[in-house]
Amino acid sequence: MSAVQPLSAGAPLISLRGIRRSYGGTGGVPAVEVLHGVSLDIHAGEFVAIVGASGSGKSTLMHLLGCLDQPSAGTYHFDGQDVSTMDADQLAWLRREAFGFVFQGYHLIASATAQENVEVPAIYAGLPEEERAERAAQLLIRLGLGERLDNRPSQLSGGQQQRVSIARALMNGGRTILADEPTGALDSKSGAEVMALLHTLADAGHTIILITHDRNVASQARRVVEIHDGQIVADSGTQKADLQEKLSSSPNLTGVSSYQKYSESKDQQASVWADLREASRTAWRGMRLNRARTGLTLLGIIIGVASVIVMLAVGAGTEQRVMQQMGALGTTIMYLGSRAPTSGGPVGVLTNDDLADIARLPEVRHVMPIIGDPITVRYGRTDRQVYVFASSKDMPEVHHWKLAQGRYFTDAEDRDLAPLVVLGYKASAHFFPDRPNPLGQFLLVGNSPFEVIGVMAERGADSGVQDYDDMVFIPYHAGRARVYQTQTQPDYTVVNAIEPELAQAAEAAVRKLLLSRHGREDFGISNAAAKLQAEAETRGAMTLMLGLIAAVSLVVGGIGVMNVMLMTVRERTREIGIRMATGARQRDILRQFLIEAVLVTFLGGAVGVAIGLAIGGGLIVSGVPVVFSLSAMAGAFGCAVATGLLFGYMPARKASALDPVVALASE
Ligand code: ADP
Ligand code: MG
Repeated sequence: MSAVQPLSAGAPLISLRGIRRSYGGTGGVPAVEVLHGVSLDIHAGEFVAIVGASGSGKSTLMHLLGCLDQPSAGTYHFDGQDVSTMDADQLAWLRREAFGFVFQGYHLIASATAQENVEVPAIYAGLPEEERAERAAQLLIRLGLGERLDNRPSQLSGGQQQRVSIARALMNGGRTILADEPTGALDSKSGAEVMALLHTLADAGHTIILITHDRNVASQARRVVEIHDGQIVADSGTQKADLQEKLSSSPNLTGVSSYQKYSESKDQQASVWADLREASRTAWRGMRLNRARTGLTLLGIIIGVASVIVMLAVGAGTEQRVMQQMGALGTTIMYLGSRAPTSGGPVGVLTNDDLADIARLPEVRHVMPIIGDPITVRYGRTDRQVYVFASSKDMPEVHHWKLAQGRYFTDAEDRDLAPLVVLGYKASAHFFPDRPNPLGQFLLVGNSPFEVIGVMAERGADSGVQDYDDMVFIPYHAGRARVYQTQTQPDYTVVNAIEPELAQAAEAAVRKLLLSRHGREDFGISNAAAKLQAEAETRGAMTLMLGLIAAVSLVVGGIGVMNVMLMTVRERTREIGIRMATGARQRDILRQFLIEAVLVTFLGGAVGVAIGLAIGGGLIVSGVPVVFSLSAMAGAFGCAVATGLLFGYMPARKASALDPVVALASE
């Protein structure tokens, strides 16, 4: 960067040489030149009016002077430095430190209060919060708006809004005030007040460049430059004497020290935290002002996150329950039944000898024939249809089931046709509501008396098909002899392999044995483990599908965020222009919009997690198996925030890449 010449009355603050500005020239539109080689020197402390008819190029010139726009040709030296050599950040710095803009349309941020509007330039200059508020309030009080600090622009008159914008122009010093038709939208009284204010500032040493189409207004300045069709046609010239006198009479202009070089300036940065706080506050304000839209976006994210959490938790819970069932039933169990062979012929019969031979196979631990049917069971005056389960003494072991009272019958008792009965937990409560110990009592099962010798422990709702707790259990042989007399063979037989690894071998061995005994396949073997496995797989696929649906809803939520951010950017383009005109760098704008996106998704994600937990809790209470996974929660939350970042980034980049002058012009 070239060295800066020391400021003196001799060296102009602003020096334009042969400035041209054309619009168009792309996409078949012929280029139109608006400024045709403007050369102009303005010294520090001057009060210059640039006057010209509407359309003569005044605003175009002002945008160039204020570094909101770049010339197509010609050079612009500010304080001795060629502006075309500055990058975007340096230009932002110049706008922030050197200029203060006052526009015909005020250009205040509609969602911010008067004081907040005035504070904006100081935010980007990195002034600490309290100092900033203090200085903004003081400026507003000085301009007669002490009562209006907390009013929004819509609650202020035009004159008051213009004074707010002047206060904003002064916030960072405002050594050079660029005022484009500042009185254009005001009634004559307010207009006169604003002019008086500019005079005071000029007297205090500010350089004032006033743009107007009104000769009467222009004549109040100390120097009048006339522009016509993009060319300077008259210039009353710098009044050196006046300037000299003023510079010497007020060497230290309203807190304005001499210009620093950009590289020397601290380019003061507030701490990252202060930055974050500021951006969050702006974001929060924007969200509050657009409650409905923010709410809808939030809803999308909340539903996405909550459904991911709930669906994964239900999936995991179901899977866990299936695993538990597999554990309880054992993966070693297979069911053996007789059936008609596929080649035709009568249904097979599994005899006691068949079962005894199977029991002798080395791979087999238990062989448990079962007959079960609802039978009328009576005790005293109570009678009831109860499922009477006739099987071997292995039942508790095969079902991993313990007794609460008494004992189970033995193999010897089974062989001896002993009339003994063990009650399920519910069945016991039903027949013996007043008798905690029913052992030794006799039940009539069908027409035969059976002695109660035990009560099973409560099994719970682990089997949806049959309620084991409501059954009674009798020995297989006694059952065939006394209850199921017409039955020629078991309903089905449970065969339990020695260990899970031998389940396949046991099945093969049983098949081989029965084939050799029967000579044909008049029986069927089904493997419980395989069934449960298949069931678990179906449920696994279901969980996956649920997860996918949930993920899709999360993505939809993300797209909602992007949509809102795009709309926000469009709606707030002018605000972006205002922020840039007051010195925001591209990265300030980028950060602000990113933080807004993240804030929305953070909030949505947090609420989504909370709601997901609440729904899961409700499901647990109503008996649905739910297993929350921390990683699913973190994942869903992380995804939400990441989507916010991703979908917020594009609109944010778009916002930050806007040309200040283009952004300002948008409505
Ligand atoms: P003034 O402020 O003196 O009324 P402007 O500087 O706003 O005039 O505009 C000068 C000329 O440049 C006008 O003819 C206007 O139509 C044209 N102009 C200004 N901005 C643009 C633009 N962004 N694209 C094309 N033409 C423009
Ligand atoms: Mg104009």
